[in-house]
Amino acid sequence: MPRDSRHDILFTPLQIGPKTAKNRFYQVPHCNGGGYRDPSAVVEMRRTKAEGGWGVIFTEQTEIHPTSEITPFIEQHLWEDKDIPALARMAEAMKSHGALAGIQLAYSGINGPNLYSREVPLAVTGGPILTFTSDPVQARTMDKQDIRDLRRWFRNAFRRSQQAGFDLICLYGAHGFGILQHFLSRATNHRTDEYGGSLENRGRFLREVVEDLRETTRGELAVSLRMSLHEAGAYGFSNAELRDFIAMHGELPDIWDLAHGTWENCSGTSRFKPEGAQEDLIRGIRELTPKPVVGVGRFTSPDAMVRQIRSGVLDFIGAARPSIADPFLPLKVEEGRYEDIRECIGCNICVSGDMTQGISRCTQNTAFMEEWRKGWHPDRARPRGASESVLIVGAGPTGLEAALQAAKRGYKVTLAEATTTLGGRVAKERALPGLSAWGRVADFRTGQMAVMPNVEIYRDSPLTAEDILAMGADHVAIATGASWRRDAVARLHLHPIPTDPAMAVYTPDDLMAGLAPSGQTVALYDDDHFYMGSVLAELLVAKGNRVHFITPAVKVAEWTDNTLEQGTIMRRLLEIGVEIHLSKAPEAIGATELTLGCTWTGRQTALPCEAVVHVTSRSPNDGLFHAARALDWREAGIRSLHLIGDAAAPGPIAWATYAGRAWAEGLDQPDRGDALAFRREITALEPGASLLP
Ligand code: ADP
Ligand code: SF4
Repeated sequence: MPRDSRHDILFTPLQIGPKTAKNRFYQVPHCNGGGYRDPSAVVEMRRTKAEGGWGVIFTEQTEIHPTSEITPFIEQHLWEDKDIPALARMAEAMKSHGALAGIQLAYSGINGPNLYSREVPLAVTGGPILTFTSDPVQARTMDKQDIRDLRRWFRNAFRRSQQAGFDLICLYGAHGFGILQHFLSRATNHRTDEYGGSLENRGRFLREVVEDLRETTRGELAVSLRMSLHEAGAYGFSNAELRDFIAMHGELPDIWDLAHGTWENCSGTSRFKPEGAQEDLIRGIRELTPKPVVGVGRFTSPDAMVRQIRSGVLDFIGAARPSIADPFLPLKVEEGRYEDIRECIGCNICVSGDMTQGISRCTQNTAFMEEWRKGWHPDRARPRGASESVLIVGAGPTGLEAALQAAKRGYKVTLAEATTTLGGRVAKERALPGLSAWGRVADFRTGQMAVMPNVEIYRDSPLTAEDILAMGADHVAIATGASWRRDAVARLHLHPIPTDPAMAVYTPDDLMAGLAPSGQTVALYDDDHFYMGSVLAELLVAKGNRVHFITPAVKVAEWTDNTLEQGTIMRRLLEIGVEIHLSKAPEAIGATELTLGCTWTGRQTALPCEAVVHVTSRSPNDGLFHAARALDWREAGIRSLHLIGDAAAPGPIAWATYAGRAWAEGLDQPDRGDALAFRREITALEPGASLLP
């Protein structure tokens, strides 16, 4: 199908200062949990974006000086000339298909605890370091010499960026993370000298740095300013002040890159923020400046992108998560392959990779950050090996991804699903409040397989072990998922708690099957700590129940700190009237009440209720696997039999799709014994003796 001509505008080149972007697809800076630790993994990840047709591709946050670093988060460093080669390789990869290569330079000021460099943090105005983790450290207020030093450190970074081969430099202000924004915002700038007070004064440092940038790079590099669209609070840099600033300095950068005030707000999950959520804050800014404007909004629909440009809101479509979920999004739009777009589901599992200092993964794009480590490609598959056919039992995220990847490799795929619906857990979870976008996990894969002649899907087909042996596939994967436990066993209670059979006890599976109580007082016990407890609390409130949310943790849904949702979830639960019991857990369940224990003191209280919901842990549905393994499956001609996904070890949906991919990738691969399953880089040793006296 040719491209819809309405989308042509997305492919018109546009100038950014001295450079020209080939199209309007602009991959804004985004973290990946790999950073300086995994340079080649990051390089190959960016290279897939170049191949996928992005017009502009940026690095993540690149720290310019050791007096400001955000350990434990793993970003990029440009502290010395010896940091240049890794970034030069990055720039070269970004430019490999005609994209402009951008580097985002950051000096974190009040946001950098310097846990690694041990330097005294420097800030526009000193005070406690403002991080997610409340580090017990304060920053010193910069004096005039510090400001001169900082300008020099920026100039060093500009020179190094140019040497590394970048086309654009992004000065990071947005999200409250960058010192340029700290100067602008009255919340973080209490200075009384020429760098504080009026907007003109607060913008002085930014103007000086941009001037330095142009001078150092001889005007050859384009300048992007990444700024916050709105900072909340009485002193924050509000949307109105941003507009004043842009009206005053419309020609300062070559492009304005505008993002909502905090990272939580900017990268909201689909549960809380729709596509294009920042439009109200950005509309009209385009008229204040002759320079192009880029903004984000988890855009995956080309129609929505065109609307942003045609209506004069944006010139470039900024994307971080949509570019992670589908690095080939631009090329697919260009070629009119709309049905092949793998849409971001807005789950922020990618963000959690950065937050946990793991390596990021993506629920939708199982190859993300595995391009170099494992040689996985977002869209291309390695050809199949010696065997021909595979059977996958269970069409949840694991089974669907396993089937799709095996089919792409060229195997004859049979996918058997017990129910009439494909999608497994996402088929159920997509119906829960706020989670409809999660259905894309199933829709994308079923859509892709619908046109593949080598895939046969059997619904309504609960297989037995004997069925599996009779089907004659070369390789079998059992992806039968997991079931929520009814006995409260998880992290706190490692054994079932005493429960009176007269109390109605529900699991998330019950509620998703439509068995939720209505008009009752319900105690929801959450020892899972991710999204499910709070989502079900919303569902129960919507059904007219009075809900008590009980958790042994010190905050609700505490793991959602890693998906940037925790504060929003807490606010939502309070707003809808859920009563929250922190640091508490049921010790016994009676016929009409729970006995709650304080997790610190053991002090007990009674909580009368009519029903209990346990959101605790899941039991793998591995019975079929064990039954098949007990039979003589090799005799039946089966070469391999694996238990994968939630049926092996329950986890988030991203873990399930990854498991499906890993199984399909492993088909007909030589046994590597104890060799590491992925490539990695280790620190190169410096020559030289000890410095000890
Ligand atoms: P995962 O996240 O690992 O994909 P899910 O629970 O989402 O796990 O999906 C498992 C799927 O397996 C469900 O759709 C379930 O109906 C299906 N299933 C379970 N047992 C069988 C069986 N014996 N035969 C076919 N399908 C099964
Ligand atoms: Fe989107 Fe989730 Fe993938 Fe992140 S992990 S890019 S939010 S689908």
